[in-house]
Amino acid sequence: MNVTTAAPDAPKSSEMIETDAIVIGAGPCGLFAVFELGLLDMKAHVVDILDRPGGQCTELYPEKPIYDVPALPTVTGQELTDRLMEQIKPFGPQFHFNERIDTLSRQADGRFRLTTDGGSEFLAKVVVIAAGGGSFTPKRPPLAGIETYEGKSVFYSVRKIESMRGKDVVIVGGGDSALDWTLNLAHVAKSLTLVHRRDEFRAAPHSVEKMRALVEEASVRLMIGQVTELEGANGELSAVLIKTANGSERVPCNAMLPFFGLTMKLGPVADWGLNLHENLIKVDTERFETSEKGIFAIGDINWYPGKLKLILSGFHEAALMAQAAHRIVYPDKKLMFQYTTSSSSLQKKLGVK
Ligand code: FAD
Repeated sequence: MNVTTAAPDAPKSSEMIETDAIVIGAGPCGLFAVFELGLLDMKAHVVDILDRPGGQCTELYPEKPIYDVPALPTVTGQELTDRLMEQIKPFGPQFHFNERIDTLSRQADGRFRLTTDGGSEFLAKVVVIAAGGGSFTPKRPPLAGIETYEGKSVFYSVRKIESMRGKDVVIVGGGDSALDWTLNLAHVAKSLTLVHRRDEFRAAPHSVEKMRALVEEASVRLMIGQVTELEGANGELSAVLIKTANGSERVPCNAMLPFFGLTMKLGPVADWGLNLHENLIKVDTERFETSEKGIFAIGDINWYPGKLKLILSGFHEAALMAQAAHRIVYPDKKLMFQYTTSSSSLQKKLGVK
């Protein structure tokens, strides 16, 4: 779908969420955009494919220290995210995790209609694309025919724990996601087998300890080996073949969860008809607006001459974007420049007055 084509106003479904701004991506720049929009009285909904905020900071380096965020000599990716979440609390943003924005089109009334792969629909006056390196896409294990099972009995994330109740679950991987879901599903699944190619895990040590305790009490079976074959019909798995040092074993399975890490792809952003520069969205440096009025792009996803993919650049971009967005959301209101230190109206919004 192309944003340049004005579509007749879509019939409003009961699920349609109307908002001033929609922020695509809950990475550090998307989160700070909520703050800057909020200071100027714009309400935001934030959508992210991942199941938590923080983008690259929490997905790729939660425990690594960052040394170049102004005034924080050292802060980990997780801590920076937690602090941003705290900072935006007064503005009550609504988060929609585990959902990917797939389509974006302009309505006849000038607003934007966005839909997600989870069936949510939004109508927004402005769109802030803070999609970073793009969609985090799960790495698919090299197993013949796996595509036919995806979404039915092979899942790369779990949206509802209850959907796994009473199932024979096989989790594959040795990182945090594999271990977290092993702990979460151990007492929900009918049986749970964790498969990892070696008896060493990249996950947090306390999760590994808890997993070993579950193995000890026979709530989880740990197999050191590899899934080599899938068995089933019509997208429904019935068993997987697991090769270990002792040979191959057929293990009953009707839900397999492979956690082999994520790669980043531009994803649906590429289909929205925006001007791109080498897979990044071209913006101006006054408003950080794209080739479409009302659609802004901030953070790692944008490009302009001299762009630096740093968190602090995205924060600056968010501040200027919000000034420009205000002119669209409140065309009749004059915007006064104010400091948070001295403006009682800003302090009221922040809940500190
Ligand atoms: P991201 O953090 O990438 O977040 C984008 C979010 O958008 C993701 O959560 C993604 O799931 C979501 N998304 C994408 N497409 C969609 C869609 N269609 N629908 C819904 N959601 C979508 N920067 C520094 O300033 N200092 C450092 O020291 C530093 N160290 C780094 C170390 C490592 C190992 C890495 C990988 C990066 C480092 N960076 C550092 C870079 C920094 O992490 C990025 O600049 C920053 O994360 C960009 O933030 P963002 O909000 O633009 O995007």
